[in-house]
Amino acid sequence: MKKHIKILKKKLKNYNPKLKEECGIFGVGNAKDASALTALGLHALQHRGQEGCGIVSFNGKQYFSEKRFGLVGDNFNKEKILKKLQGDYAIGHNRYSTTGENSLRNIQPFFADTNAGGIGIAHNGNLTNSISLRNKLVKEGAIFYTTSDTETIVQLIARSKRLKTIDKIVDAIFQIQGGYALVMLTQTSLIGVRDPFGIRPLVIGKIKNSYVLASETCALDIIGAKFLREVENGEIVIIKEDTLKSIKPFHPKKARPCVFEYIYFSRPDSILNNKSVYEYRKNLGIELAKENDINADIVVPVPDSGNAAALGFAQHLNKKFELGLIRNHYVGRTFIEPSQKIRSLGVKLKLNANQSTIKEKKIILIDDSLVRGTTSFKIVKMLYDAGAKEVHVRIACPEIKYPDFYGVDTPTKKELLSANKNKDEICKYIGAKSLEFLSLNGMYRAIGFDKRNQSYPQLTDHYFTGDYPVKPIDELGDNKVTQLSLLSSVSNN
Ligand code: AMP
Repeated sequence: MKKHIKILKKKLKNYNPKLKEECGIFGVGNAKDASALTALGLHALQHRGQEGCGIVSFNGKQYFSEKRFGLVGDNFNKEKILKKLQGDYAIGHNRYSTTGENSLRNIQPFFADTNAGGIGIAHNGNLTNSISLRNKLVKEGAIFYTTSDTETIVQLIARSKRLKTIDKIVDAIFQIQGGYALVMLTQTSLIGVRDPFGIRPLVIGKIKNSYVLASETCALDIIGAKFLREVENGEIVIIKEDTLKSIKPFHPKKARPCVFEYIYFSRPDSILNNKSVYEYRKNLGIELAKENDINADIVVPVPDSGNAAALGFAQHLNKKFELGLIRNHYVGRTFIEPSQKIRSLGVKLKLNANQSTIKEKKIILIDDSLVRGTTSFKIVKMLYDAGAKEVHVRIACPEIKYPDFYGVDTPTKKELLSANKNKDEICKYIGAKSLEFLSLNGMYRAIGFDKRNQSYPQLTDHYFTGDYPVKPIDELGDNKVTQLSLLSSVSNN
C-alpha cells in the first residue's frame, strides 16, 4: 500500500496538466472504403505522431470506433479491422504525446452522444484556455473522462443550448482559444475547422465525388486525391455528400500559420501556401549559406530534418554534400519520445556516423533547428569520435528562445537552450568548433514572406520573437487542473 501511495505521489509530481499535442488528422466523406482511405491518409501523416492512432466511421445509422497504441501500419493493416469501421464517412487521428498522460483513453478521435446526435472529433493543436474552461465546466458538473484538451471541445458542444449540431459546434468554437485544426463527423456531415489565425494546418482535397480533409497534402497524394486548397484561417467547411459549404463565423483576422510547419513538422513533399515544403527548406539552407559561409571540406545534414537545408546550403556555395550520418529508419523521430532520457538514447539508436566520408574532414553540420540541444550534442560527439577534424554547426532557423503553447512541443523556457545560454555557451555545450543560426530576416526571405511588408508578421513566429498571436491564458493564471480530475486521471493511468 505504502509503495502504491509513493508511486501515486511520484506520478502526481510528474503529471503535467499542459496537454500539448502535435498530431495528424484526416477525414473523408461520401466515399466507398472511407475507413481504408483514412488509414492510408493517417499512414502518410505518421511523422506527425506515433504514439497512437484511431479511426471513427459512420454508416448513416451508427458510429464505429477503433483506437490503438502505435503505428497506423501496424494497426490498421488488416481487412478484418477496416471491415469493422463501416460507412462512407470516416475521420482519423495520429497522436503525438509529450509529457501528458499516455493512455488509450486519450487516443482520438473522440466520440460523444449529444442531444443532437453522435459526434466524432479529431484535433491537432493545443488550446490555450482549455484548463480554465475545463475547471469552469467541472464546477458546473461536467465529468471528464480523459486528460486531453479535445474533450473540453466535446463538452462545450454537448452542453450548448443551440439546437442544430453545426450551431453547437460554432458555439463551442467561439469559446476556445489557441492553435487548432479539427475534423468532425456528425450524423449528416464531415466538418473541418481551422483556428482564427490558421496556426495549425488543414487542407481540402477531392477524389471523385468525395471531399477529403487532411493536415497535409501528402495525405491527399497517397490516396490519389487532388489538392483543392487550404481551409482558410477561421473557416469552417461542411461536407455533405458531394457538396462543400463554407462559413466564416469569426471576425476576419490576418492569417498567421505556424512557421514550424515550414521548418520542421510538415513532410517535405507537402504543399504549404502554394509551394513545396522541400523548396522552403532548401531556401532556408540557401539563406543560411549567404549569412554563414565557412571554409570546410563537406556539408553534412542531420538526417532527415536537415536534408533539404543542407542541400540548399551546399548547392549555393558549391560545396561537397555528403551523407556523413546514416539513419536507421526503423526508429521513430527522436523528439517524439516522451522523456528526455529515452529521447537522448533515441539519437544513438537512430543515427550512426558514416566514417569513410567524414574521417579527417572539416565538416559543416546542418540541422533545421536546435531546441534542447540533445541532437546536436550527441551528433557532434559522434562525428568527432568517428575521426572528424572540425565540426561547425549551422542551424537553418533562428534561435528558439520562447516556448510554444499552440501544439508544437517546444518546451518550457527552462528547457530551451537558447533561452538560457548565449551562442558561445551553446557552442561549447554541444562541443562544436563553431555555431551559427539563420537570422529572422533570413528566415522570412527564405519562406518568401516579406518582412518589410507592413502586415508583418505573417507567420506565428513566437519561438524566435516572443510575439504570441493568442494569449496563453492557462499559462498566465488559472492553470491548475482541479484536484479531483488530477487524482482520477493519474490513478486510472
Ligand atoms: P533538440 O535535440 O532538442 O535540440 O531538438 C532539435 C531536433 O529535434 C532537430 O533535429 C529537429 O529536427 C527536431 N525538432 C525540432 N523541433 C521539434 C518539435 N517541435 N517536435 C519534434 N521535433 C523537433
